Amino acid sequence: MEQYDISVIGAGPAGLFCAIHASAHGSRVLLIEKMDEPGKKLLLSGTGQCNITHAGEMRDFLSHYGDHGKWLKPALFSFTNKALIAFFEELGLPMQAEENGKVFPKTRQSADVLAVLLKECKAKGVEIRCGEPVAGISHQDKGFEITTSRATYRSAVMVITTGGSSYPKTGSTGDGYRFCESLGQPVTEIAPALTPLLIRNFPFAALAGISFEQMPFTVWRSGKKVSEHKGDVLFTHLGLSGPGILDASRNILPDDLIKLSFVGTMKREEFTADLASRVQENRTWQVSTILAAYPIPERLNRKLLKISDIPDDLKCNHFSAEQRTRLAANCTEFPSTVTAPGGYAVAMVTRGGVALDGVNMKTMESKIVPGLYFAGEVLDIDGDTGGYNLQAAFSTGYLAAEGIRKRLEEKGLP
Ligand SMILES: Cc1cc2nc3c(=O)[nH]c(=O)nc-3n(C[C@H](O)[C@H](O)[C@H](O)COP(=O)(O)OP(=O)(O)OC[C@H]3O[C@@H](n4cnc5c(N)ncnc54)[C@H](O)[C@@H]3O)c2cc1C
Repeated sequence: MEQYDISVIGAGPAGLFCAIHASAHGSRVLLIEKMDEPGKKLLLSGTGQCNITHAGEMRDFLSHYGDHGKWLKPALFSFTNKALIAFFEELGLPMQAEENGKVFPKTRQSADVLAVLLKECKAKGVEIRCGEPVAGISHQDKGFEITTSRATYRSAVMVITTGGSSYPKTGSTGDGYRFCESLGQPVTEIAPALTPLLIRNFPFAALAGISFEQMPFTVWRSGKKVSEHKGDVLFTHLGLSGPGILDASRNILPDDLIKLSFVGTMKREEFTADLASRVQENRTWQVSTILAAYPIPERLNRKLLKISDIPDDLKCNHFSAEQRTRLAANCTEFPSTVTAPGGYAVAMVTRGGVALDGVNMKTMESKIVPGLYFAGEVLDIDGDTGGYNLQAAFSTGYLAAEGIRKRLEEKGLP
């Protein structure tokens, strides 16, 4: 049975970053990964380009984790977006912020981010064992006993960085929650988040691929408006996606109604009045030509007329008040009923996880099991799109390493 100072379970961004910083103080660190290679999800991130963090002030990050941002404050402020950018740039990978604030490596390659992390692990002497799923963990007075498919290891301190349950093909299949259960560490209910929405009888399937910048939309439940949003929206074959929808999906339930506006911020009454005046001024024009004056793609223009039961070639002088009312409603508040948020296979992150009140969020150590630490998505934290999830994984990974350093120093260990 091999003995380590620190074992880290799961070689995603949180585990790799924690291992790098934990080993910096001379500890012997083992990083165990179930897949054949580390960082499978990191490689997919940002469609392979890796939106690693977001530009701007750290205090602005806090609102991007639902109502859990305040818990992340110590981690985010102990290792900021600027520190993350500096970390990679000092190791030879320059970063670049887009106008919208998203930060990517200049090379636009997630593989380059992973390569830096792996090189740094090697430089720091982190021992990485891949293709070795951890099957069980037990805790005794002297630390942890970790059983994998190949061996059993012991360590004084252990970090769980197994990620969530989304995109299970990348290795994150919720094992960390199971380990927590066996160790008596509370876990909240989990659900897919940052997920596309499946829409009942979605009428725009043939328009899949059309996207809308900063589309206003509202969410309704049992006849009541529950939230208002504005963000980029994409039509898919089965419903709605795009960053605006993904970010809102955290709080969307089956049977919720999404009302989409295809005419920007114009409210229904305003649009109705605007449409009426254009129709009045251009009596011999076709209604479709009037509609083309709004930011509605041509194929959607025709579809909206059809759904509103208005012939393609209808002229304004035959455009009835009822037809106008129907068209205005469909252009400003198009109703789409959610069958279900997409499942774990398509969700970018997992909502819920290790309960935050069971963790000292200043050190990332369990309040229940001494020497047990957490970092990354296994925690009950999910961020918006835009680099917030990777920043949380890196910041919590760093803070866990710092917490461990302090603990080992107090105990006089390396
Ligand atoms: C398609 C996609 C695109 C994304 N794009 C972005 C983006 O651009 N920006 C952003 O901020 N976020 C993005 N995310 C989210 C981000 O990738 C995750 O939040 C982040 O990877 C979480 O890091 P982690 O280290 O906590 O977990 P993970 O990256 O999930 O890593 C956990 C690791 O633990 C391993 N593991 C699990 N169980 C065991 C076990 N029993 N034994 C050993 N190892 C185990 C897994 O195999 C995995 O390698 C994206 C997610 C997806 C799915």
